[in-house]
Amino acid sequence: QQTSSGVPVEAEQRHAELARELDEHSYRYYVLDSPTVSDGDYDRMMRELQELEDAHPSLRTPDSPTQRVGGTYSTLFTPVEHLERLLSLDNAFTEEEVGAFAARVAREVGEGEADWLCELKIDGLAVDLVYEDGRLVRGATRGDGRTGEDITPNIRSLDTVPSRLTAPAGGRVPRLLEVRGEVFFPTDRFQELNATLVEQGKQPFANPRNAAAGSLRQKDPRVTASRPLRLTLHGIGVRDGFDVGRQSDAYALLQELGLPVSSRYEVHPDLAGVHAYLEHWREHRHDVEHEIDGAVLKVDQLGLQRRLGATSKFPRWAIAFKFPPEEVNTTLLRILPNV
Ligand code: NAD
Repeated sequence: QQTSSGVPVEAEQRHAELARELDEHSYRYYVLDSPTVSDGDYDRMMRELQELEDAHPSLRTPDSPTQRVGGTYSTLFTPVEHLERLLSLDNAFTEEEVGAFAARVAREVGEGEADWLCELKIDGLAVDLVYEDGRLVRGATRGDGRTGEDITPNIRSLDTVPSRLTAPAGGRVPRLLEVRGEVFFPTDRFQELNATLVEQGKQPFANPRNAAAGSLRQKDPRVTASRPLRLTLHGIGVRDGFDVGRQSDAYALLQELGLPVSSRYEVHPDLAGVHAYLEHWREHRHDVEHEIDGAVLKVDQLGLQRRLGATSKFPRWAIAFKFPPEEVNTTLLRILPNV
């Protein structure tokens, strides 16, 4: 049996069911900070939805979870429009898929043109910070990518976030600078937090990612201030007086301005270096102070990034290589909703 657009009824029903489930899981994850399925299960459902849409493109409507940046925002906070959209990242689950991504980039910008910036994919909460004339004026969550939640007082309470930028040697602070990054909960402090919460008769968090999101998205910024949250930047948005040609140069300048960037990024001119990086961090994922769920590969040159552009959901110049999920027992997730 087929619908009027020629899609088998079974496929359409499965699509609607998956979309509904993914929306529900997104709400629990982004708004309630309390997921009931593992990330691996969520990713598998999203893959199945994508495959259904590849087979039957009329199912790919603009409101499909495959087309939207995952999150949404809660009415607990004041909504805030981002200066520039915050996007998600396309995923690769095998090194072959990374190779296919690099081949597509090479076809579009020329063989050997792109340099590859490799970074760790931090499993935390995406935030957006705006500095005007060197002063932090706003901090927000990603939300649906266009509108996030205003969490400025909470962001200010983080030790790693300067309220004023430092002028670089021989230069001045940018007139406007929007930066993006990940707030994370250091893994070595996680058990300690849960022990304290249990002592206080409160529910512990299911994992460090939820601890970061739940600690940052607090109505009372003093609760946020009492938690050892940290920030690492991984992107730039709108800027005026911040002139760089490469994303790696941006990181060097952000560091000079006093902003927190990772020391674990590498730039490689070819895929051999990229694969070595992925291999290394897949084996050493636990040697880092925060959880990582993969590595991110980006075209380093900002001019090429502009040429490659973006879809409604992700930049076409970057891809996340997801490490095999370390399956969390979903029953455990259900009995450990966070505070
Ligand atoms: P994503 O987590 O796959 O990747 C995009 C995000 O990665 C960016 O927005 C950014 O904040 C972050 N990031 C971390 N390090 C980065 C770096 N070095 N450079 C650039 N970005 C970096 O996508 P998403 O849209 O944020 O979330 C979808 C994922 O969240 C799913 O794949 C799933 O794993 C998880 N999720 C789980 C549930 C659940 O119920 N368990 C529900 C919704 C989403």
